[in-house]
Amino acid sequence: MTTSAAAGARATVHGYPRQGPNRELKKAIEGYWKGRVGADALRETAAGLRRANWQQLADSGIHEVPTGDFSYYDHVLDTSVMVGAVPDRHRADVEADALDGYFAMARGTQDLAPLEMTKWFDTNYHYLVPELGPDTVFTADSAKQVAELGEALALGHTGRPVLVGPITYLLLAKPAPGVSAGFEPLTLLDRLLPVYAEVLSDLRAAGAQWVQLDEPALVQDRSPAELNAAARAYRDLGALTDRPQLLVASYFGRLGDALPVLAKAPVEGLALDFTGAGAANLDDLAAAGGLRGKRLVAGVVDGRNVWINDLGRSMATLATLLGLADRVDVAPSCSLLHVPLDATTERDVDTQVARWLAFARQKTSEVVTLARGLTEGAESIAAQLAANRADLLSRVGSALTHDPAVRARSAAVTQADARRSLPYAERATAQRARLGLPLLPTTTIGSFPQTAELRTARADLRAGRIGAEGYDERIEAEIREVISFQEKAGIDVLVHGEPERNDMVQYFAEQLTGYLATQHGWVQSYGTRYVRPPILAGDISRPEPMTVRWTSYAQSLTDRPVKGMLTGPVTMLAWSFVRDDQPLAETARQVALALREEVNDLEAAGGSVIQVDEPALRETLPLRSADHEAYLYWATEAFRLTTGGVRPDTQIHTHMCYAEFGDILQAIDDLDADVISLEAARSHMQVADELATAGYPREVGPGVYDIHSPRVPSADEAATLLRKGLEAIPAERLWVNPDCGLKTRGWPEVRTSLENLVAAAREVRSGI
Ligand code: GLN
Ligand code: ZN
Repeated sequence: MTTSAAAGARATVHGYPRQGPNRELKKAIEGYWKGRVGADALRETAAGLRRANWQQLADSGIHEVPTGDFSYYDHVLDTSVMVGAVPDRHRADVEADALDGYFAMARGTQDLAPLEMTKWFDTNYHYLVPELGPDTVFTADSAKQVAELGEALALGHTGRPVLVGPITYLLLAKPAPGVSAGFEPLTLLDRLLPVYAEVLSDLRAAGAQWVQLDEPALVQDRSPAELNAAARAYRDLGALTDRPQLLVASYFGRLGDALPVLAKAPVEGLALDFTGAGAANLDDLAAAGGLRGKRLVAGVVDGRNVWINDLGRSMATLATLLGLADRVDVAPSCSLLHVPLDATTERDVDTQVARWLAFARQKTSEVVTLARGLTEGAESIAAQLAANRADLLSRVGSALTHDPAVRARSAAVTQADARRSLPYAERATAQRARLGLPLLPTTTIGSFPQTAELRTARADLRAGRIGAEGYDERIEAEIREVISFQEKAGIDVLVHGEPERNDMVQYFAEQLTGYLATQHGWVQSYGTRYVRPPILAGDISRPEPMTVRWTSYAQSLTDRPVKGMLTGPVTMLAWSFVRDDQPLAETARQVALALREEVNDLEAAGGSVIQVDEPALRETLPLRSADHEAYLYWATEAFRLTTGGVRPDTQIHTHMCYAEFGDILQAIDDLDADVISLEAARSHMQVADELATAGYPREVGPGVYDIHSPRVPSADEAATLLRKGLEAIPAERLWVNPDCGLKTRGWPEVRTSLENLVAAAREVRSGI
């Protein structure tokens, strides 16, 4: 190790969780919305959280703290404000009151739609999509960035402002309403760069030595034109004289063709991800001849999972990197926004497992340790390395991570297990005979309204005000109501309504061995919505049936088929923290085998229709298209493994929401489900067309009731959509259902909407 090059390696982070140890920010913002918290009090809470975060980072040994990564709602929305890209419809609100106008853009008002929200790359964080058009005029507003940097400097910290970079900002934008769909926001680059220049100049004047520009969009497939735009952007920004030093940060994977572009750019630093798919950056960097004259911020600690780092391995990576850049600093791979705050607050987690967990605070300590090892030599962190090795070994050797029975079952899986015993056409005939359904059968997606009474029942159970028996009685009462309503409404395939489920992933995670729940593991999903993803910690097994008693109870109340309802393996992974000590495909297979037992038990209990939801199949698609095939291979296999063990005359349904299915049509076919229900009401049944064009041979239920709105569709409206569906899908294969589950809706609207839906099905049926 060349100690001279390592001199002064430092630790830093790209960004930090915003919410506070007890989600103080959420409470303050929601209080502000309700009028219970004043604007000044909200600002004071926010400033206090920033202060506490910086202090904590500095105390743990971080030299340069991120500033401006804090947000009242979303950092992409903050960027839109910074560049003056406020949609016309919100301008008056923003001018009247900047804070209220900001929240109006985020959440909408009585009359004005909010900005659209979508997922931030392949994370579960959602950002607000910038709306741009040929008439967009950018203007610089650096006030927030300057103020937050000022706060950090005043407290004695070295602050590094973090901005969304101009290329990523434009690539994440979409054409504003009324602008042609073909408009490419990237064509606005020349207009945007002067605004960034102004912000950089303001930040320099305010005392910034470095500014970080986040360009995660460059780890996705990018066209030569887009790479040229990136080259131009950083050539122009680099050429500015009145600016701080620039650190261009990439994360969420491998830069690929964008690496030489950034390596050549006249900026002073680059941050690269060396975890997961980003590991390839190491060879790419060597091939590009390294980063002569530049600072490299090495993301060696995974910023998205909850596991301790392999410090020895990271030290080896860092040692290699030392030869490839002028200065190497150590960081997590991305902002720590995507992990919970502090693993030591998890008191209920088994003490052995606790040693394996690293949330934001622990990851911060890890990068500090690694920076020290890099600067002072591995001997200086010998104790930490030894403890880390012991913790990692305890994980490898643990009975939780290695259950021989689960391993054996997984190893014994054959192709045949992932295949139904008869092809679809023959199954369809058998199912028709068994179920005796009318043409255009009606059904729902699973959940019925989660009422205040149900939430109270769960709270009462947790608080010990009622026992398990009392709780079960309340759930049964709800099931009786749901079944009796559906019978009266004339629905053909009933559901039990999922009243016992707090959440479609957590409910199963709580019952599977190998899955952990956290008490305080909150991460931001969007705005003030935080979720606590469960942790896939060990080998997965199912000690007991999870849903059979509720489905059977529902079935005992009616002669119509009751559809069993499960969350599929891919969605179970997508909405959890996954293991990093085995391939995702193996974890998926274990979850699939556990769910398969449940599917088989539902069938054995008399179930003739079973639905396995996979709403996350599309959203977990890897960022690079070269990785799609491998992902879809194991993802669809896991689904087929879950459902492959039932009789031909048992009907398997699946369900997906979110309207973009274009690039996974083949995968949808590969699931080999008998029936698929999809979101379609808003896009006028477009998905039915797409599936038909792709030659999809099975039954389809494109939603005819938009459940994202309290609006009740009339029977005529639903019938019109159904007729539209019939143009693409023949009547023998068309189902009638809402877009998604009804859990967020109220009973009165659900009642009328479903009655209208049945009326529409009857009317269209009678005309066939
Ligand atoms: N069965 C689930 C429900 O109805 C499906 C939810 C979803 O697709 N997100 O609530
Ligand atoms: Zn859905």
